Amino acid sequence: MSNDMPLPLYAIGLGSNRRHARHGDPRAVLLAALAALESADVEPVDVSPIIASEPIGPSRRRYANAVALVASELSPPAMLERLQAIEASFGRRIGQRWSARTLDLDILLWSGGAWSDGSLTIPHPAIEQRAFVLGPLRAIVPKWQHPLHGHSIRQLAARLARPKPVDQGASPH
Ligand code: ATP
Ligand code: MG
Ligand code: MG
Repeated sequence: MSNDMPLPLYAIGLGSNRRHARHGDPRAVLLAALAALESADVEPVDVSPIIASEPIGPSRRRYANAVALVASELSPPAMLERLQAIEASFGRRIGQRWSARTLDLDILLWSGGAWSDGSLTIPHPAIEQRAFVLGPLRAIVPKWQHPLHGHSIRQLAARLARPKPVDQGASPH
């Protein structure tokens, strides 16, 4: 790629809800993952604060989430492969979808717009329902417009935070 072409940007969602034997708690896992993400062809541009939950309930599971903005000439499938290699190096086993996992790295947004093939969908389809994604995203790219409908991250975050209208029919009055 020539020097005067800006590199594509990716917003990468990072999540952890399990300690790592060497790195420690989920927050430490994310810090280590951010370091692992940086490489000759993945340049860090910005990173959100790491949001962390206190352990709740019987599992006493802690969660940590963050979003990193990186510039890279990798294609979307090559970026996914890179992220999966990093997940594997943190001990993630396949078949752990939704369950406790050391590290989850998802492609949330790509400056190229939308991508869809059998194993990769960009923008990540769950962005709009997830406060733990929209909060960190808003901290770094509030004006980024969702390529499918044009709403900005700030708008999507505000919409998710807005109280849902009460069902008038269910009112006791
Ligand atoms: P969710 O996608 O709801 O956050 P998850 O991150 O727990 O769930 P994984 O087990 O990490 O799910 O990934 C399952 C598959 O999702 C991956 O093998 C990958 O091919 C696919 N996938 C589709 N779109 C994306 C994306 N934008 N980023 C990362 N993985 C994706
Ligand atoms: Mg995920
Ligand atoms: Mg994932």
